[in-house]
Amino acid sequence: MDPTNPQSTVLVVDDSPDNIRLLGNILLREYRVLFATSGQEAMDSALANQPDLMLLDVMMPGIDGFTVCAWMREQQTTRGIPVILVTAINDTDAETRGFEAGAVDFLTKPVNPAAVRARVAAHLELKRQRDELAQANTRLQEEIERRQRLESKLREQAEFDSLTGLPNRKLFHDRLQQAVLMGERKQRHFALLFVDLDRFKWVNDTLGHDAGDTLLIEAARRMKAVVRKSDTVARLGGDEFTVILSDILHESMAELVARKMLEQLATPFRLKGQEVAISGSVGIGIYPADGATSHELARNADSAMYLAKQSGRNAFRFFSEEIDQQAHRRMTLEGEMRLAFQNDEFFLDYQPKVRLQTGDMTGMEALVRWDHPREGILFPKQFIPLAEGTGLINQVGAWVLRTACNDAAFWIKEGFDELKLAVNLSALQFRDGDKLVRMVEETLKETGFPAKNLELEITESMMLGNTDQASETLRQLRELGISIAMDDFGTGFSSLALLKRLPIQVIKIDRSFVRDLTPDGRNSAFTAAIITMARQLGLEVVVEGVESDLQMRILRDQGGDEVQGFFFSPPLGKHSFLDLLHGRLPLGGEHPPKAANA
Ligand code: C2E
Ligand code: CA
Ligand code: CA
Repeated sequence: MDPTNPQSTVLVVDDSPDNIRLLGNILLREYRVLFATSGQEAMDSALANQPDLMLLDVMMPGIDGFTVCAWMREQQTTRGIPVILVTAINDTDAETRGFEAGAVDFLTKPVNPAAVRARVAAHLELKRQRDELAQANTRLQEEIERRQRLESKLREQAEFDSLTGLPNRKLFHDRLQQAVLMGERKQRHFALLFVDLDRFKWVNDTLGHDAGDTLLIEAARRMKAVVRKSDTVARLGGDEFTVILSDILHESMAELVARKMLEQLATPFRLKGQEVAISGSVGIGIYPADGATSHELARNADSAMYLAKQSGRNAFRFFSEEIDQQAHRRMTLEGEMRLAFQNDEFFLDYQPKVRLQTGDMTGMEALVRWDHPREGILFPKQFIPLAEGTGLINQVGAWVLRTACNDAAFWIKEGFDELKLAVNLSALQFRDGDKLVRMVEETLKETGFPAKNLELEITESMMLGNTDQASETLRQLRELGISIAMDDFGTGFSSLALLKRLPIQVIKIDRSFVRDLTPDGRNSAFTAAIITMARQLGLEVVVEGVESDLQMRILRDQGGDEVQGFFFSPPLGKHSFLDLLHGRLPLGGEHPPKAANA
């Protein structure tokens, strides 16, 4: 029984008032009893009152009990109400018809009060159980629906990027596959754009992750605004976005969108109260010309983006055969680089540094090369970026330092113990400062190379981001006795404040300032200014890329300390370099060839 309504309702239907009274008396003590004296009244009352059970006389004038019973089964709201038919004794035919009409039980007249109570109670209990079951079922149904809703929400979260709300990598791949299928079936073209934000890492490192997040959200919004609703802008992760432009009639449509996107990205962003200028690089692939499968198309659009970035950023590139070849070559080289260690294909050249005032050799810079079995000698520009991309740079860097220290340790033993060995570091080696310091320390120990003869060359970009951590790493290297040179000075931020904060002893003026060095030129003012400034900061100045007598003279007059460049010597293999040290090979310049302490 329903605990909130403990009394069940029984509807008694009989055309005879005597029978009604009789049955009423039997049931009134336990139940709420309603009465009806005709078939029509019974139906009306059943609809209106929704009794829990009906006691129904079969033989009634007008609408009889069978008809009422059958009607009850047909109505949505009365279908569940059990009907007990009351018939004359031994009327088996009536019983058959009654069950057919949907009655649950029979009572025979004259009624036995105990039997009436027992049957009514039994069927009410049955109904209660059935209702409970139905309710449980409904609850179950609701629970299932709730779970389904939750699941679809989770699925949505798994398909959309929570930061920007854009489709994520998974959904992007689904949509791309979808686009390929559609393109295949309907012979349609579409474009795939790979978009990468230039300088995102810089924003993240210098302005913090909040600013980085704001930038991504705003960039996503701007990119979406450029395309149609039916197009997809997705975020693959980090600062990598993709765009699917469905149904393009001509390449120029993709180009137009690419241009608009670049324009949007080049418009300054407001981050942490300041205007920040970034830009984007876009690679474009067209289906089916640049890839007939989603995989191929994505790979090619990505390669095109890579080249757009390399070509100087804020640019877009269509995929082409040439890009394909370059990408292919890059991938092959990446794979081959792992083998290059086993096959001993790396080697070092050494380029002397010369003291301007005396013409003596003061040291040398180690420069790595790769003697590639198929491609010939590769220069750092051709493989260092690849090594940085694959993480092999740590291995390359460690190899360079160990080999250079071994070679130079030998020269020191030969008596050239004032020579300074300069070794270049990659920004990536600098990222894990502790690891770098450990590596350097171990190499010095293993090779027995004196720390005071080692100079590590870093660039300004390595100091960006976490400057405190970077200067701590430099301090630890300094503690080992090593000196630090700031390479390519003048090409980056050239920040005096930075120079003052970092434990640096040497700056190397980039060769681009030497190229046009004439007595009254702009560049000569620049080198003069840096040399003066370095003097005031107590720093030594090395000028790279000196190719002519004139350049050398100007720099000497300006008070530069050391120079490096083809005018004195190109980078040389270790045997030639030893010849140079021993005077068997001449060192360029106006002074007679002579090495310090030789
Ligand atoms: P860098 O540190 O600025 O090295 C000097 C580069 O200028 C060398 O090119 C050298 O051959 C070249 N050079 C020297 N004198 C002259 C000259 O008079 N005129 C001209 N036009 N160029 C001159 P290289 O060997 O191709 O190295 C290029 C860059 O690769 C280096 O620039 C350095 O940043 C990087 N690199 C070289 N070796 C290593 C290394 O072992 N590790 C890392 N991480 N980077 C390296
Ligand atoms: Ca260098
Ligand atoms: Ca340099």
